Amino acid sequence: MSRQHGYDLIERIGNLLRAEARQAGAGHGLQPVQLQALAYFARANRYSDTPAALAEYLGVTKGTASQTLMVLEALGLVSKREDKDDRRVTRVQVTAKGHQLLDKLLPPALWRNASAELSAAAAQRIEDELVRLLRVLQQVNQSRTFGVCNTCEHFLREGGRKFRCGLTAEPLSIEESRLICREHELKTGT
Ligand code: SF4
Repeated sequence: MSRQHGYDLIERIGNLLRAEARQAGAGHGLQPVQLQALAYFARANRYSDTPAALAEYLGVTKGTASQTLMVLEALGLVSKREDKDDRRVTRVQVTAKGHQLLDKLLPPALWRNASAELSAAAAQRIEDELVRLLRVLQQVNQSRTFGVCNTCEHFLREGGRKFRCGLTAEPLSIEESRLICREHELKTGT
């Protein structure tokens, strides 16, 4: 596959999925970026549930992230609260209504139907290669990985079902180990 062809394919796939997400979100008054923001907060851990982290994740300005949040809050899809230790920091939580909407809209029907056409082995191969491609892109771009906690360099297993963040020294629950994190760093050698 030529480099140009690879780029064309990724762009075509992105366009198809974006169009589908735009259509799905429009029925609920949401633009694609607002749907992406909602999906982000549903997966973000306690170190990443802030407007600033959302801006970094989406690659948008803090102003755009803040406007996006205002729309989500007005629709009752997220709620905001002050951080208990630092009142300047706002924390964002997806409401039950927000989770219900996400379950309905994401992944888009087009993706679900297309995935069902692939064998489990083929779907896994594609996922593995996409993860590799994303990592290379992030390394070249020097952007944060926002990876899943249990794949992080700092993730510590303390036996049984006990986990800890080696960066903050705080304990992590099983649920938290499956969330994405702004401080995530790839394990050396991956
Ligand atoms: S182990 Fe890594 S990903 Fe998990 S909370 Fe700590 S810094 Fe974040």
